[in-house]
Amino acid sequence: MENKEKYQVLLYYNYVPIEDPETYAAEHLKYCKELGLKGRILVAEEGINGTVSGTVEQTNKYMDDMHADPRFADMVFKVDEADGHAFKKMHVRPRPELVTLRLEDDIDPNETTGQYLSPQEFYEAMRDENTVVLDARNDYEYDLGHFRGAIRPDIETFRELPEWVEENKDKLEGKKVLTYCTGGIRCEKFSGWLVKEGFEDVGQLHGGIVTYGKDPEVQGELWDGQLYVFDERISVPVNRKEHVVVGKDFFDGKPCERYVNCANPECNRQFLCSEENEHKYMRGCTHECRVSPRNMYVEEHNLSEEEIQARLERIEREDGVAHQ
Ligand SMILES: [Zn+2]
Repeated sequence: MENKEKYQVLLYYNYVPIEDPETYAAEHLKYCKELGLKGRILVAEEGINGTVSGTVEQTNKYMDDMHADPRFADMVFKVDEADGHAFKKMHVRPRPELVTLRLEDDIDPNETTGQYLSPQEFYEAMRDENTVVLDARNDYEYDLGHFRGAIRPDIETFRELPEWVEENKDKLEGKKVLTYCTGGIRCEKFSGWLVKEGFEDVGQLHGGIVTYGKDPEVQGELWDGQLYVFDERISVPVNRKEHVVVGKDFFDGKPCERYVNCANPECNRQFLCSEENEHKYMRGCTHECRVSPRNMYVEEHNLSEEEIQARLERIEREDGVAHQ
């Protein structure tokens, strides 16, 4: 009889003072390794943020041990079932901030933050006409999936968000502003920052998209596409009522939810791309990346010079534009 061991992926954070993050990180790494976990944990003076994978037994032990520490006694763990580890290694790193916002005046979410909305409350608030929904994540996360009608701030990193809000105040003023992110940690600070900027009606999705997708009432409704996650799974489903694909193939714009990394290791850009186009473009996002001497696709598929030339010619013939 087959008895395949079950795994879990945990996602969690807590804004709580941690003295000497360096020492804590070193000790915590040792402990996680002994337990057999893999994943990525950040430790700062302002708290902890982690995502780890392990067997059900290992991850349950981890949650029990963490809850036994008074600092993390009420920490919420989001738990996903998995077939195996979602990471290759175990890292615990001390950091100046859990979320890189680099604000002039830092926000303490324990003092200033937007109103916490349950999945049901968030769902209802989204359906109100006087509501603006702001995605607090990066553009490549938005492109794979987002709440229907949510604004995609035209930014590349979370750090640029405050500046974007400054420039787009007219879109937000007088409205109820809702923010959401993967697990909720980024919104704690971002919504706090909006409150501090003078926006009066600010709500944040408590527990993030992950919790929203698991909620038995809303079942991820009004979410389009998939959720980008920062582990080997890359994406997970959210909406359990309907699946609308919003991702678009980088090359031909056709519906696509398949992420690849550019085969040129010096570029490593992540983009959505069908299997067919991966072969056609040798997984290179530009002509330069395709002809890079370090192109990993070429190596993996053992392409000869003639074969590379044939693919480049096909691109030129079919796309009409050379060296694009
Ligand atoms: Zn590239």
